[in-house]
Amino acid sequence: MDVSPIALKRRAQKIHRILAETYPYAVAELDFRNPFELLVATVLSAQTTDVRVNLTTPALFARYPDARSLAEAPEDELQEMIRPTGFFRAKSRSLLALATRIVDDFDGAVPGRLEDLVTLPGVGRKTANVVLANAFGVPGISVDTHFGRLSRRFGWTTEEDPVKVESDVAALFERKDWTMLSHRVIFHGRRVCHAKKPACGVCPVAALCPSYGEGEVDAAKARKLLKYELAPGREDLHRRMLEGASRAELLAAGHTLSA
Ligand code: SF4
Repeated sequence: MDVSPIALKRRAQKIHRILAETYPYAVAELDFRNPFELLVATVLSAQTTDVRVNLTTPALFARYPDARSLAEAPEDELQEMIRPTGFFRAKSRSLLALATRIVDDFDGAVPGRLEDLVTLPGVGRKTANVVLANAFGVPGISVDTHFGRLSRRFGWTTEEDPVKVESDVAALFERKDWTMLSHRVIFHGRRVCHAKKPACGVCPVAALCPSYGEGEVDAAKARKLLKYELAPGREDLHRRMLEGASRAELLAAGHTLSA
């Protein structure tokens, strides 16, 4: 589908509006209380799910609440604590190096500028943008695997390189919308527009999506592909989320939040 730049922008914004209505509860899915916690959680989230990271971090942050304490953590103990997130040896090395640099060069506080964040060991542009957007309130587009894939399916970009995806998508939206756009697109990628089998037949943006038909178009079959709170049988969880229940409240009510 060839569209003019103006039509592309208009369509992109319509898609964003529908995603905003579909996921009014979209937020960063990693639990954190400050920039340090988000940075650590983001490092841990590589190659695993946010749900798994959220199960691991409460004990980790209780023991190491800041960069100074984490920098001095015994490596074997740290490895044990983060083991469930996978790649725990590499991740514990990253976290120790990261915490040490924050202590040595930034007086123990996570820096709030992109150019500083990307100098930290193991922190790339994606992690830096996540931290800036969600812990410092600086609008940012987080191009993870879901965001990249959906941006291409929506026709917002043809690029594979995350930095180029970011700049193509940034041109379609107002800066103030970048952070929430990222959350909503990632939510949609996790629940509906999966890498292998997108659930096109029940997708709320199907009418606007140039990739409609790439996945299952039969509504009954597509419904079975939905994940998390949209999965069949989880109507109660979905209702609670629409009502604004927090993650802590949902967990306390016995909802597991897993895919
Ligand atoms: S129509 Fe299909 S490809 Fe397009 S966003 Fe929806 S699920 Fe993804």
